[in-house]
Order: sequence, then C-alpha cells, then structure tokens
Amino acid sequence: MSDARTATCRTCPRSCRIPEGGVGFCRSRRNVGGTIVAGNYGRVTSLAVDPIEKKPLARFRPGSTLLSVGSYGCNLRCPFCQNHQIAQAGERDVPWSEVSPERLVALACDQHRQDRRMIGIAYTYNEPLVGWEYVRDCARLAHEHGLVNALVSNGYANAEVIDQLTGLIDAANIDLKGTDPSFCKECGYDVAIVKGTIASLAHAGTHVEVTTLVIPGKNDTSEEIASIARWLHETDDGIVYHLTRFFPCWRMLDVPPTPVERVYELADVARKYVTHVHVGNC
Ligand code: SF4
Repeated sequence: MSDARTATCRTCPRSCRIPEGGVGFCRSRRNVGGTIVAGNYGRVTSLAVDPIEKKPLARFRPGSTLLSVGSYGCNLRCPFCQNHQIAQAGERDVPWSEVSPERLVALACDQHRQDRRMIGIAYTYNEPLVGWEYVRDCARLAHEHGLVNALVSNGYANAEVIDQLTGLIDAANIDLKGTDPSFCKECGYDVAIVKGTIASLAHAGTHVEVTTLVIPGKNDTSEEIASIARWLHETDDGIVYHLTRFFPCWRMLDVPPTPVERVYELADVARKYVTHVHVGNC
C-alpha cells in the first residue's frame, strides 16, 4: 500500500512515484512533505569558466566564454556517461557547495567585468533539467543583468518544463544520442521526447546545436546519421550538428574509441542535409 504523501514527479517521462522523504530515479528530485522539489537546488559540484566552443556551441558568440555550473544527478543511465562522477551521483556521493542564484549571477557579473569575453552562464556537467527550477531562477536573474544563458542537456524532459525555460535560454546544445530502439532503451530515453525538446527550443527562437557521440556498433551507421541529419534539417535548417568521437568511459570500457576517419565520413554524410556540421574529440 502506498503512503498517502507519496507524490509523482512530472519533470520527465519517468513519472517517478516518490514516497515522502525519498528521491527519484535521477537522485536529484525529492518528496518533501508530499511535494516534489529539486533536492539539488543551488547545490553546485562544478563551477568553471569554459570557452563556449567546449559546450559545444560552435556558432553562438564564438570566441566568448561562459561560467559553467553543474550539480549532481541525471535521469538517464547511458553506460558511456562522460560525466558519471557527478551525473550518476546523489547528494552523499559527491562534494557540493550551496550557491544561490543571486551568488551565481554575482560571480558571473564579476567575471564579466574582468573579461568582457565572458558573456553568461552555462547550465551543464550533470543533467540541468532535473533541477530546472534553479536554471529558471538563475536564468531570469542573469537576463536582468545582461548575461546570456546556455543549456547543455539530454533533452529528456516533459514539455511543460521546456515551456518554463523558453525565452530564458539563449542557446542550447541537446544530445541526440541515437534513434535505434535498443540503444535508446539501454540509455533510458524515448527519442520522440528528445526530438520534441529540440523542436520546441528551435521553434521558440533559441539558438540550437545538437550533438551525437558516435559510438562504434551503437549509432555509427551512415543510415542512422543521415536519418538524424535529415530530421534536423526538416525541423529547423538553422540547427548546427556536432559529431563527436567516443572514448571508453564508465560502464562502456569494452568498446574501442571511434576511428577518427569514421567520424569525418559521417560528418560528410550529415552535410548532405545540415549546413553546419562540426566534428569533436578528433
Ligand atoms: S526528474 Fe527525476 S524524479 Fe522526476 S520523473 Fe524524472 S527521474 Fe523521476
């Protein structure tokens, strides 16, 4: 029998039923007194000024930098997670510091005064949308101070969450990891939801770039990349596409690094549909 104060989280399609005092699958959202809240709100595990190209954002204010902020937690379990130390962690697994939106934006303003190439904040490292309220509050304040906001995300969130953020996010890089059903299942997402996020952001006027990490035997066929690139073009021909090289990581140590030449071949396949295609990690 479930507790009367068990509540359902509506942030992503997992719809976790969380008992009072418990946390969801993402290890970020929790049930406090029957209400679901972002348990990782303002809990910062990583903070660094990064070149914007590192997000990667290739065609939004090139040459600038962003104050990049991350917490802990993620709603996917991709076995190749590149940030597993924080993305696959909960509050007791990783050190964090409390940084309010006011403090974060003040830090970004300080950085901007010191170096005018520093133009705003990137919500990144772990999955920012599992703590979307922090993104919303920081992004509003950042806009009030003339800073820009960039989102780096897996895109696996309900449309209501994306609606809360459109207008606040100036640029986004969303992972489109692959479309093969068994690969999507392995990671734990429904590709239609991720595509919905990409389309919503693009149609709302956000500058959108999309990344596929090319993994041998998982998503590295010409047909797969052509199908993603075709869909990107049909959705918004301004979307920029990144193909990045895989290196063995976390629970995927048995797959070799992607051959560099294969990443370049696939970039040529994508260029038949998308004007701006970039390769990374090569
Ligand atoms: S955001 Fe987290 S708690 Fe909410 S439904 Fe998704 S995985 Fe579950």
